[in-house]
Amino acid sequence: MTQIDRRTMSFPTAGSELLVGGIPVSRLAERVGSTPFFAYDRSRLDARVGQLRAALPHDVHLSYAVKANPMPAVVQHLSTIVDSLDVASGAEMRVALDTPVPPAAISFAGPGKSVAELTQAVAAGVLVELESPLEAERLTTAAERLGVRPQVAVRVNPDFEVKGSGMRMGGGAQQFGVDAEEVPALLKELGDRDVDVVGFHVFSGSQNLHADILAQAQARTVELVLRLADDLADEPTYLNIGGGFGIPYYDKDVPLDLGTVGANLESLLAARVRPRLPGARVVVELGRYIVGEAGVYVTRVVDRKLSRGSTFLVVDGGMHHQLAASGNFGQVIRRNYPIAVANRMDEADSEVVQVVGSLCTPLDLLGDKVALPRAEVDDLVVVHQAGAYGLTASPTAFLSHPQPLEVLV
Ligand SMILES: *Cc1c(COP(=O)(O)O)cnc(C)c1O
Repeated sequence: MTQIDRRTMSFPTAGSELLVGGIPVSRLAERVGSTPFFAYDRSRLDARVGQLRAALPHDVHLSYAVKANPMPAVVQHLSTIVDSLDVASGAEMRVALDTPVPPAAISFAGPGKSVAELTQAVAAGVLVELESPLEAERLTTAAERLGVRPQVAVRVNPDFEVKGSGMRMGGGAQQFGVDAEEVPALLKELGDRDVDVVGFHVFSGSQNLHADILAQAQARTVELVLRLADDLADEPTYLNIGGGFGIPYYDKDVPLDLGTVGANLESLLAARVRPRLPGARVVVELGRYIVGEAGVYVTRVVDRKLSRGSTFLVVDGGMHHQLAASGNFGQVIRRNYPIAVANRMDEADSEVVQVVGSLCTPLDLLGDKVALPRAEVDDLVVVHQAGAYGLTASPTAFLSHPQPLEVLV
């Protein structure tokens, strides 16, 4: 495995400058007109989707999980290169419905959907992924009122756990999905209502860097849905087997071996799914793997301070825009996201600094004892891996600073 260059994260450089969307970051900052900002590189979105298409079986449908980055321009761009969109709120659904993706290729997952959201989904013809018996009841009632026969899938909380995920979202007791053992009873109830149950959705976890563990999870997911399919009136046509592909954030993270993931999935589909359910569409649903590495957060150095032997670079952004890079409000072991001085890419690291944001809390730390070239006031610090769960996953109202801009370049 080749070592990742944590300064560039494979973005190209020209002279002293990091290029995002082919544009030197200093020029980009002038064009945006203010710092801090997020920039998403469309060529990297294309490249990542291309890698996924090349590695995954040809008949797998690729769904983009909008919550990873709901910027409308990003969703629009991705809508032309993925097969479907997965949304988790009424507002995300509106963004998805504004794209050329047909409503039936939009899935709506997530606990606690409101009656208004369920009604909106049914009226629009969006596939609703049911998370509980009460939600199923609300949905069928809403659909009967509208006189529409909705398409639904059952989100299943699996009877197994996936180890090695950054975030576990299935197995054990969960707010997500219907426990696998309760699904037959729910299907029986739905059998008496005016709905089409088209299949199942299993999402067991997020941010997994291990191809072998993902393969095990996919194999167990497939066995589970094949078992549950026996209780469906019609053969399922929709098998959303989740995703959870991770990206490297920290020093020792080894990137996911996508080729192995694809080869394992191909064997699994050939052995277990295509012979049994030839008409089923197998969906892999990904957020951060598609957008995470395409984005950077750019913030400007506004002060350089020495305090008792430590050098602090104070930047005009911080944890209110890029919470995860700061360590999520005091995570026990805080590690640095990849970070660089975007206008000094040709200079060697020459000092170890604290890169801190402009909020009045010691938690507002973007780089802890990070080696960088000597940066001056007005230099641009770039935080990588900022394309997913950045702006919309951060406490932007904390300390009431202005919202940063986002650009797709
Ligand atoms: C959040 C979420 C995803 C996306 O997770 P990533 O780690 O960004 O790939 C996919 N599916 C569901 C159901 C989710 O809730």
